[in-house]
Amino acid sequence: MKDRLQKIKKNIVNELKRTQTINQLEIVYNKYFSRKSGEFSRLIKDVKTIAMEQKPVIGKLLNDVKNEAQILYDKIKDDILQNSKFAIQNSDYDPTLPGENQKIGTLHPITRVKNDLNDAFKFLGFEIYEGPEITSEAYAFDKLNFPEDHPAREIMDTYWIAGAEKNVGKNKLCLRPHLTGGSVRYMQTHKPPFRFVYPGRAFRNEATDAGHERCFYQYEALIVNDRISLAGGKILVDTILERVFGKKVKIRMRPGFFPFVEPGFEIDMQCLNCGGNGCSVCGDGWVEMMPGGPPHPNVFKAGNIDPKKWQGFYINIGLDRLVMMKYGIDDIRLMHSGDLRFLRQF
Ligand SMILES: [Zn+2]
Repeated sequence: MKDRLQKIKKNIVNELKRTQTINQLEIVYNKYFSRKSGEFSRLIKDVKTIAMEQKPVIGKLLNDVKNEAQILYDKIKDDILQNSKFAIQNSDYDPTLPGENQKIGTLHPITRVKNDLNDAFKFLGFEIYEGPEITSEAYAFDKLNFPEDHPAREIMDTYWIAGAEKNVGKNKLCLRPHLTGGSVRYMQTHKPPFRFVYPGRAFRNEATDAGHERCFYQYEALIVNDRISLAGGKILVDTILERVFGKKVKIRMRPGFFPFVEPGFEIDMQCLNCGGNGCSVCGDGWVEMMPGGPPHPNVFKAGNIDPKKWQGFYINIGLDRLVMMKYGIDDIRLMHSGDLRFLRQF
């Protein structure tokens, strides 16, 4: 026991003396004196195994070692603190100066508006749906009632996936040129009545300018039940715009042709820039916001839904354009530029 004690004392002293920081000092101290697992603490527990008459002697030795170690520990700690104080006093470091502000990231304006819309629609009982960004000719065009030779297939300058271009239908893969195909997937797997919104990115291979990007966000909504009317569709649009702009916004619906809706509408909102009087942003006081209308019977059929029994209403918002209108952004390319000067404004 005595030998063990002598050996441990030597180790403690050596190791304490080698420490240079408070952290190292604590580690060495705990290695020996931690109540649970310290080597010295274990030694104390072993005292009960030694002969009765030896106990007072060993007990005293244990105490001496402990006290000596404690004194050494306190002295080294003092030295370290003194040294670091000296180092601080003799350096340019001034602990009284205010700290640097940490830069905190913010949500992208598109994400903000998308989150706002999701909240509003969840409250109205809509499900939030997500679909794959890689889709096929079947879901991008065929099932949405685009005729075989329809020019929109060309207009939408789709990104075809290499190696799949020569195939047809479900084997011809592409990046989705719009979200609407995803709603056919939803219809195929859900029984009406239902209502869902569908936020996501779409991709088109076209020249970019202030109003066009190759990758952009859409926000689609579809209600299917046995009695939705055009008036119901208008309420849906009103709800979205009021949520985004924080006030009622005037809209108008004009006839427009889109293969997947029948009858189809172009939905415009009154320009917020000029209040409807006409300006350089809008021209005549109205801004084109989204196509919409009841799903075409062929789209319902593609989704395994009986068009005689069920009715619906689609809208498909260009989310980027809505965000641009809300924040007065005049170039869509800024949105995906990653430019911090732009992003820090939100
Ligand atoms: Zn205007």
